[in-house]
Amino acid sequence: MKSTRLFLLSVVAGCGLVAHGAAELVLAERGKPAASTIVVADGAPPSLKYAAEELQRYVKELTGVELRVAADAINCVPPAGGSQLAATATAAIRIELTDEFGTDGFRLTARPPDLLVRGGVRGCLYGVYELLETYGGVGWFASWRTVVPKLERFAVPANLDDEQRPAFKMRMTSWLDATRGDFAARLRLNGARAHLEEKHGGAVCRFGKRMGSCHTFSFLLSPKKYFAEHPEYFAMRDGKRELPEKAARWGYTQPCLTNPDVLRIVTSNVLEAIKADPTAGIYGVSQNDNQRYCQCPACAAVDEEEESHAGTVVRFVNAVAEEVEKHYPDAIIETLAYQYSRKPPKKTRLRHNVMPCLCSIECDFHKPLDVSPYKSNVEFVEDIRGWTRQTDMLYLWDYTTNFRNYLHAFPNIMALQGNLKFFRANNVKYMFEQGDSLGLHADFGELRAWLLAKWMWNPDAPMAPLLDRFFKGYYGAAAPYARQCFDDLYSLPRDSVTQRLGIFEPVTNTNIPTAFFERAEGYWQSAAEAVKDDPECAKNVEAASLSTMFTLLYRLPRPRTVWVTRHPEKFDGGRCRTYAKKLLAARKPLNLRFAENPDRDKAFREEMEEVAKFVMPTAPCDRVEVPSSRMRLAVPGVRGDRVKDSDTLDGSAIKLFNTHYEWSVRLDLASVAYDPDVKYKVRVRVRVEKDSAAKGEAFWAGVYDTPAKKGCGSISVKAEKCGDGYAWYDVCTWKPRDGQYFWLGPGRFKKGVGVSAIKSVWVDRLEIVRQGD
Ligand SMILES: [Zn+2]
Repeated sequence: MKSTRLFLLSVVAGCGLVAHGAAELVLAERGKPAASTIVVADGAPPSLKYAAEELQRYVKELTGVELRVAADAINCVPPAGGSQLAATATAAIRIELTDEFGTDGFRLTARPPDLLVRGGVRGCLYGVYELLETYGGVGWFASWRTVVPKLERFAVPANLDDEQRPAFKMRMTSWLDATRGDFAARLRLNGARAHLEEKHGGAVCRFGKRMGSCHTFSFLLSPKKYFAEHPEYFAMRDGKRELPEKAARWGYTQPCLTNPDVLRIVTSNVLEAIKADPTAGIYGVSQNDNQRYCQCPACAAVDEEEESHAGTVVRFVNAVAEEVEKHYPDAIIETLAYQYSRKPPKKTRLRHNVMPCLCSIECDFHKPLDVSPYKSNVEFVEDIRGWTRQTDMLYLWDYTTNFRNYLHAFPNIMALQGNLKFFRANNVKYMFEQGDSLGLHADFGELRAWLLAKWMWNPDAPMAPLLDRFFKGYYGAAAPYARQCFDDLYSLPRDSVTQRLGIFEPVTNTNIPTAFFERAEGYWQSAAEAVKDDPECAKNVEAASLSTMFTLLYRLPRPRTVWVTRHPEKFDGGRCRTYAKKLLAARKPLNLRFAENPDRDKAFREEMEEVAKFVMPTAPCDRVEVPSSRMRLAVPGVRGDRVKDSDTLDGSAIKLFNTHYEWSVRLDLASVAYDPDVKYKVRVRVRVEKDSAAKGEAFWAGVYDTPAKKGCGSISVKAEKCGDGYAWYDVCTWKPRDGQYFWLGPGRFKKGVGVSAIKSVWVDRLEIVRQGD
């Protein structure tokens, strides 16, 4: 910020802005004539004018007093009955644009009868927000949740003198709600992920188009374009230059970074990209998102010398950056220190125009990174010290949600402040806290985004008052119950060595016991009762309760889909159905996302739809036929396929190939409603397509007990005993229990010969019959 002019913004107070008693400077007072005027100098940047609008808007909400906005103090229109104005006509809030505190810092100074807000282009706006938050009690807890108290008087201490500068130059998050421009600005977030406009003072820095902060090698050296003619441009893996199946689409390969042609092509593409977007400032030249670094002798020698795979990366990126500097001396080249390149190289140093982005992806997030004894954390502490010795532009990419299950509990909040203190102590300047960028309402997600913003500004802000403020503000009258849930979750014991809190922890991992979620359901029910007449808080409570329901849905026994019981009333499954229905119904209105990965998100949705729509029978039943469509087929397309067949129960069959003899068709007894301690008989309807030249097993089938690690009965059927069409085969009679499953596979053929006695085996249905009374 090279500002030489000072822009003035004044509030000329008709009734207020006078010292109230000895200790206060009053800005507005309820019931007094709306005589004050906010003044913004002509030519002030849009963010100062917006600061005035925000001040006007919230002062009115706080006190009912509408301040007027004018071009400068001289143009102030006296109110009707101007005698009151005459008494305080020289008083003003002066907001001055200055580079004294950087672009984001500010200083609030009371000089009765004046108040000064001095700051940078974003700092002036942040200074106004500080006034409204700290002295007005305004709280911005989500883009849809602002709390504005009703005040008799909006005042600041008469001796106010508060200078603030942020701990981090860039404060960025991808928590979806906190990327919405107005809300992001109120949280003092200034990263390019937020949709910040000119009125917010814009973003602090920007990555070039197609040159974002991660995984740009596949754009800069396209496998699709080059691999066929130049496989040597790409990583050697186990002695071969191989193009993995998905490489063209997902960048599942890496360049060979010691190949001079690769350097030439990448450099030329980087220069083109800068030319296309020269004002961006930062350009990512970074590894793709996989572990397939090049193992060719030249690359391996560099990495060995540097004692890290970052050796080849940094030497390569330095060479690109050296060439870039000749054409664009101010451009910064950013690269990842991620997974295999996280450890800094031993010898090579970063060029002054290279920015490293260090990523914490492997770590334990239950405790601060420098506190957890988990191995990856201990190494991370070493790595960050190594990088920070080389640069004053360290960019830190931190992970703050469960990316496999956004809604599942992710108890990392107690680590967030410690982490930001640790990053500050290690000279991190650019901070990115990755969150639920594709949906809202992850477990305590709004709280996490809010706390991260507060602590990215000031890691020393004490936790306890922040938590109190958020819970009261966001949940209203439900705050005590929401807090009970939070305190319960954060008092669960966890051993950081054996129970790492990883960002892909599956919902079925019982490190957080199911009993907690059962209790949580109770807290949220009480919470819902407390805010049933407050739609805004009721929505916040509903969203939080869905997070608990999501986990319970994947922890509780599913509704049984096969019924062969005389006591259907014992197989309710109703909770799962209720949760599935609620989650599906809320998905669009609340913008829920179940997983970051689109395929996984879709799979969750489809499972919920299946559970939600299932209609449970009520009549007792002693016999059931189960079509093949209800059975699982392992490795479809490899071990077998589902095929149309009109000679079956539901028009389809599972056709098993003759290339293996694995147990590939399966029905879990946990999906069957049966009566315990009663014997059942199972038989299977199968068609064997024989190979006329061979003799041997056609198929084998049985029931296996996983916990007991033993079979409950099985058959092996010889090909020569089978007819041409479908036939029924008795499998066994046994007492079912959960943990068992029915299985079937093509017949075993002699090892090493590789051809079985059959061409294929077709499975139509099972029949399960209750035995005895
Ligand atoms: Zn190589």
